[in-house]
Amino acid sequence: MSEQIPEQGTNTKSDKLRVVTIDGPSGVGKSTVSRRVAAKLGFTYLDTGAMYRAVGYACAQAGIEVDNPAHQEALNTLLGRLDLRLLPPEKEDDDVRVFLGDEDVSAAIRMPEMSMVASKVSAVPAVRKRLTVMQQEMGQAGGVVADGRDTGTMVFPQAAWKFYLDASPEERCRRRVAQLRKRGQEVDEQETLAQIIERDRNDQERTIAPLVMAEDAILIDSSSLNADEVVARMLEIISSG
Ligand code: C5P
Repeated sequence: MSEQIPEQGTNTKSDKLRVVTIDGPSGVGKSTVSRRVAAKLGFTYLDTGAMYRAVGYACAQAGIEVDNPAHQEALNTLLGRLDLRLLPPEKEDDDVRVFLGDEDVSAAIRMPEMSMVASKVSAVPAVRKRLTVMQQEMGQAGGVVADGRDTGTMVFPQAAWKFYLDASPEERCRRRVAQLRKRGQEVDEQETLAQIIERDRNDQERTIAPLVMAEDAILIDSSSLNADEVVARMLEIISSG
């Protein structure tokens, strides 16, 4: 059963796109919250981080170093031919399934080492341009919950509901370690914290589409809230128009 939310044209946000954006740093719980908000609203969940991860994976497979000038042509060819599809998860609370052509890369792109690879490719203008257009096409009809770093600022500036989810690096590290261990992956806590801090810096300091809170986004600090409490707060704000 979907939540009651204002229809387009029946509220003060009638010029806005019926899209919810949830941005924030790594490990803040965006994907869990986004998935649940999407399920409650009957919207599609658009995991933009998975798209950067998939491009990072595709580059690694093709031996393309994105910061090597001699590899730019190969990178452009890869982006031009990119056959990237996101499919809904098989079970609620599972990750979105990601395909590159016929290859299911869902598990491979979520290996811990792919996080830094994704962060690196995400600073490349050609990559951002290609994925931003794909994301805008996926959301143009509305009915989407998008999460990432720039969904409220660059991808869907006209989204009707924008959130910025934050939590301390230590709390995010604790959650990431628990999540990876639950998946049976071995993790070192100190290394995970160092990576979170480095990724924050990469994402916040890059010149193109850096991680910043949109001026019209609502800040939610999830340090002392669980996922259900964050979801409830967002739904309350969304249903109030
Ligand atoms: O969200 P997730 O950790 O899967 O994203 C992987 C990386 O992709 C991030 O560290 C970030 O560098 C990049 N990203 C981005 N813009 C987005 C989503 C993700 O730059 N909208």
